[in-house]
Amino acid sequence: MRNKMISLIVILLFLGACLAGARKIKTDESKADASFFAMSTYISLTAYGKTGSQAIAAAQARVEKLEKLWSTTDEESEVFALNHSNGVLLRVSSETGELLHFALAMAQETEGAFDPTIYPVLLSWGFTTGENRIPTKDELERLLQKVGYDRVMIEGNDVTLPDGMQLDFGAVGKGYTGDILVKLLKEEGVKSALLDLGGNIQVIGTRPDGRNWRVGLRNPFGDGYLGVLEVHDLAVVTSGNYERYFVGEDGNTYGHIIDPADGYPAKNGLASVTVLAKDGKYCDVLSTALFVMGREKAVDYWRQHRDFDMILITQEGEICLTEGIKDQFSLSGGDWEVSFMEYDE
Ligand code: ADP
Ligand code: MG
Repeated sequence: MRNKMISLIVILLFLGACLAGARKIKTDESKADASFFAMSTYISLTAYGKTGSQAIAAAQARVEKLEKLWSTTDEESEVFALNHSNGVLLRVSSETGELLHFALAMAQETEGAFDPTIYPVLLSWGFTTGENRIPTKDELERLLQKVGYDRVMIEGNDVTLPDGMQLDFGAVGKGYTGDILVKLLKEEGVKSALLDLGGNIQVIGTRPDGRNWRVGLRNPFGDGYLGVLEVHDLAVVTSGNYERYFVGEDGNTYGHIIDPADGYPAKNGLASVTVLAKDGKYCDVLSTALFVMGREKAVDYWRQHRDFDMILITQEGEICLTEGIKDQFSLSGGDWEVSFMEYDE
């Protein structure tokens, strides 16, 4: 009996040592990363763990493959083919089909604040070429006749885009790519990763040391960050007209998020919208759509849906957070007015 007790203690000590060892190895885990330009933006992927480097290589290859499907300018892309299909039915890949189904459903849900057929209008402002100009009201009205998500026909992966209409996944493609990468990395065994697709942040798990990821909230009025969000297993996506914009001959600034209601860059009192949820494509669409809606409608939308959190920064510099992320956000300093949005008014 005594011998048995002793061997049990020895086994327990041995197991304890193994566990301590395992923990030690964990904090030393290797880090793999890749930074590259794709989808018109800088992408930076970081993964921890033994399978990190092969996972990151596979992720980068996947981004490049998806970009080839959705680029509006690459003549080989599926979006390009659809945009030049002259109203003829085309069968697209399952990735493009799934993305288009989602985009059309969200266009309906946001009552067209997000509309993946806005491209003809975007082109007229010169945002794709960098040769910016201010289209006339008549021109915009004419172009808006070519815009309308409800006229896109899709059955399975068979898509018919009416003649003259054009698709653009600029406000949803990066989020969907992030979701595909999160799935891929998890399948490769990655339990801790930070994906930054041009400011769309998606994280897997926590940091390797078990603490939350710290995601900076950009200051839409200047350089740097105005606060930090602590998150795990989440997407954090920001939209604003402070990064891609131009100053017109009339001295006004014009941003790249268009209000499909009139074809003009959205100017509804918001400087930026950040959306937090598990699903990256949902955050991506919503950050754009809520920016178009403006504060009041955005808050109504949030109260009706309740499946995401958000931070609205108004043009006056007020920071409004949904109550669910009160404890996850901290200001980095500065004199900001912070308020909280509650489910019940
Ligand atoms: P970013 O690409 O800077 O992260 P967004 O996700 O808000 O910003 O996407 C903006 C892009 O989406 C624009 O460059 C354009 O391609 C497209 N876009 C602009 N306005 C709309 C809109 N109302 N609905 C859908 N897509 C839009
Ligand atoms: Mg978006």
